[in-house]
Amino acid sequence: MNDKIVIETEPPSRKIKQIQENDQRSYCSKFRQKFFKDITEVQWNNWQWQFRNCIRSHQQLDEIFELSQDEKTIFDSNQVLPVSITPYYASVISTNQNLRKTMIPVIQETVFSIGEEVDPLHEENQSPVQGLIHRYPDRVLFLTTNRCSCYCRYCTRSRVVGRGAFCSKQDWKKCIDYIWSNDQIRDVILSGGDPLTLSNEEIKWLLSEIRAIPHVQVIRIGTKVPFVLPQRITRDLLAVLKKYQPLYMSIHATHPVEVTKEAKIACESLANIGIPLGSQTVLLKGVNDDVETMKELMHRLLMVRVRPYYLYQCDPIMGSSHFRTPVEKGIEIIQGLRGFTSGYAVPQYVIDAPGGGGKIPLLKNYVKAKQGQDYILENYEGKIFTYKDN
Ligand SMILES: *Cc1c(COP(=O)(O)O)cnc(C)c1O
Repeated sequence: MNDKIVIETEPPSRKIKQIQENDQRSYCSKFRQKFFKDITEVQWNNWQWQFRNCIRSHQQLDEIFELSQDEKTIFDSNQVLPVSITPYYASVISTNQNLRKTMIPVIQETVFSIGEEVDPLHEENQSPVQGLIHRYPDRVLFLTTNRCSCYCRYCTRSRVVGRGAFCSKQDWKKCIDYIWSNDQIRDVILSGGDPLTLSNEEIKWLLSEIRAIPHVQVIRIGTKVPFVLPQRITRDLLAVLKKYQPLYMSIHATHPVEVTKEAKIACESLANIGIPLGSQTVLLKGVNDDVETMKELMHRLLMVRVRPYYLYQCDPIMGSSHFRTPVEKGIEIIQGLRGFTSGYAVPQYVIDAPGGGGKIPLLKNYVKAKQGQDYILENYEGKIFTYKDN
């Protein structure tokens, strides 16, 4: 009787998303057929193959992405931050034109604006030993390598990544000695560059050395690997990571199209061995600076068990003004999420203070007034409520 009515099982909005994801998958495979047709499945799924075959040269980029005049000009001007895109990530970018801005330089990179600095967060001043940034009392940022899984054009550390000597064990030892001798350090963040571009042996060495320090409670890894080189999350790597818990991971996520089937497998296998996953996203003009894109990204992250952590205002590195939105935009995006979707899907919007002040949270003011004992509060819909304080 009722059976016939209940055919429509999925709400239409979910159906639309499903179609988009399928479309994306077919774009990716078309891309592979077009540019990497002789590459076997085994090669494609091998991270070392991906890493060795990163797209770097002007000619390769032009062939694959059909560079615009703006993109061609900057290449002639010899920009300093290298370009390097894994074939896998190139296939992801090919499905969304906005994402290419994050990887392919444009002429605006050579335009310097007021407030921009080579090292806006003054990391060099807060570095007691080379490779370590000690800004907050109880935690340090450990720059383990200059090499990255990709070179985001807006990178905070574009002054150092992608060139010069990669860090050596000798450098690492000095950093580890510093952590040993400072017993207020209870949280060590492995960053870079991307620590997951190191070999399993190197990662194991670093983790075991840091784990041996009694006052270090947690270790974190900051990486973009699950979204640009998901093939790197191998069984062998997981076996290494598993041994050094509590280990947290902050994954750099930019756009919903990054959350592919491959990325899902990578994130899920990390979550399955007990690594809590968080995300970090940089707010980028024309890439992810609207509520819908951001919401979709946060939802897709939660679906692959990544809890949104930070949304950053883009740091004022030299030649980055084309990426920066007004701060108002970031506040508006968070306002568009809070209350309208799961609290778990709402990251903290922060500005990493120029000059080295650390991350400062920004939020619309939900406290409208305090009248005597009364807090006058505004909810997500703009309705006013009163809370009587003690
Ligand atoms: C971001 C950052 C940290 C970690 O900050 P949390 O708020 O604890 O995630 C630590 N040190 C430096 C230098 C940082 O930039």
